[in-house]
Amino acid sequence: MPEVQRITRTGQFLTTVADVRTLSPRMRRIVLTAPEIAGRDWPLACDIAVVLTGPDGREVRRRYTVRSSAGEQLVVDAVLHGHGPGSSWAQSLEPGHPVSFFGPRGELPLPPAGWLLALTDESGLPAIGALAEAAGRDLLVLAEIEDGSERYPLPPNAKVRWLTRDGRPAGTPELLLGGLEHVRPGAGPGYAYLLGESRAIVTVRDELARFGLSRSEVYAKGYWNLNSRPTR
Ligand SMILES: Cc1cc2nc3c(=O)[nH]c(=O)nc-3n(C[C@H](O)[C@H](O)[C@H](O)COP(=O)(O)OP(=O)(O)OC[C@H]3O[C@@H](n4cnc5c(N)ncnc54)[C@H](O)[C@@H]3O)c2cc1C
Repeated sequence: MPEVQRITRTGQFLTTVADVRTLSPRMRRIVLTAPEIAGRDWPLACDIAVVLTGPDGREVRRRYTVRSSAGEQLVVDAVLHGHGPGSSWAQSLEPGHPVSFFGPRGELPLPPAGWLLALTDESGLPAIGALAEAAGRDLLVLAEIEDGSERYPLPPNAKVRWLTRDGRPAGTPELLLGGLEHVRPGAGPGYAYLLGESRAIVTVRDELARFGLSRSEVYAKGYWNLNSRPTR
């Protein structure tokens, strides 16, 4: 039976893969199970740091959003972007494999704003899925994906405009910037979420002022870095 070591807010979990499922050619759903999962709170779109082995044999950690939790199970959805320990790990997982992670960390805010807008690439779609379920009201989503086969399952209150790269490189702001032309803000103060490549989201964040959004009305977080090297 896996043991859990609790460290103040986060802890280490030793889990087993209960199931893996292909959501799309580049997105894999992973169900992790351990008895200790049932005993913890999993805040909205919190993440776990999965312990992996890097190319030089040293330990590395990669962060994945908790898409959902129920009883002794946690669900994460991982992008198979083709490079790096995280993508390779997700690609190779099979039921029964052990998975160690630290968590939970972080939480998405859900303020009582008049309208909600989310901009993301594939890496943030699990967080936006969890957010849409928790919000229970319309959420306008601009989602950058590789192509039409990568449409991620979001609840119906997520009103999505899919922006396809169709072979162009990931991690640039152009598609999300172009998508902003289609945004019609609702009445009253709004709130926006911006998830994706670190430098791209800074560029996009600067453009959100046109909708009357101040910095405090935008939750922006870099989920990955172009040209990053495996580190701890
Ligand atoms: C709070 C948080 C929550 C996250 N939740 C999720 C999640 O639910 N699902 C998920 O898939 N990712 C999620 N991410 C992003 C994930 O942690 C990064 O993509 C991570 O870099 C993947 O590690 P890797 O070993 O595959 O690639 P790395 O070793 O980090 O990078 C290797 C190469 O791949 C490129 N690369 C890395 N990520 C991507 C990508 N998404 N698309 C295209 N190229 C990429 C890098 O630029 C680099 O050139 C989250 C990140 C954070 C901070």
